[in-house]
Amino acid sequence: MQLILLGPPGAGKGVQAELLSRKFNIPSIASGDILREEVKMRTALGKKAKEYMDKGKLVPDEIVIKIIKERLKKEDAKEGFLLDGFPRTVSQASALDEALKELGLKLSAVINMDTPEGVTIRRLSSRRTCYDCGKIYNLITMPPKVEGICDDCQGRLYLRDDDKEEVIKRRLKVYQRQTHPLIEYYKGKNLLRSVEGGKEAKEVFGEILELLKGN
Ligand code: AMP
Repeated sequence: MQLILLGPPGAGKGVQAELLSRKFNIPSIASGDILREEVKMRTALGKKAKEYMDKGKLVPDEIVIKIIKERLKKEDAKEGFLLDGFPRTVSQASALDEALKELGLKLSAVINMDTPEGVTIRRLSSRRTCYDCGKIYNLITMPPKVEGICDDCQGRLYLRDDDKEEVIKRRLKVYQRQTHPLIEYYKGKNLLRSVEGGKEAKEVFGEILELLKGN
């Protein structure tokens, strides 16, 4: 199973990625998580990426493409993988096509999580992320058992800098301009499968499993 999760910020990609990765026993590769880890470790790459991330802009293609290519070469991605948050531009998508060809891999499907803007804004501002393991919570629909603490690792929950309202609006604009064209790109390759991301997570998961039955 080689999957891509596509959708605006706040579509629920992270939650579905976790569920799908467990169900199919494939690694979930989230470009945003990898970049946040670099930021946390204060690497040169992390420092550069942070300048873009804090403003809600996309990190330059060459940086992200390199990171993902390296990750796909690892042993655990040979049997399948799920990409969350990558590709985000047409040039990332064509770099991915090339990389997969080199590795002898093929995409099974691209799941497009179609989500209304009102829903994404509401979700992102009530989202909290674990600083240690990256697990995602929602203060309204999926709160932690103990306020401010991760159920899984007891890490501290925080509001991502780019989940603040002014940055959210920029990220949604960036999505429309740079990532939305990928819907046509993958439609053209007959790989696109759409679900409504505005529904409750369990329901969306069920629909994704239905869509993947043919794969
Ligand atoms: P995410 O966790 O997917 O919402 O990503 C958080 C931020 O990381 C984005 O707003 C971008 O600044 C950066 N980022 C993540 N994935 C990519 C990507 N594929 N291309 C460029 N920037 C990315």
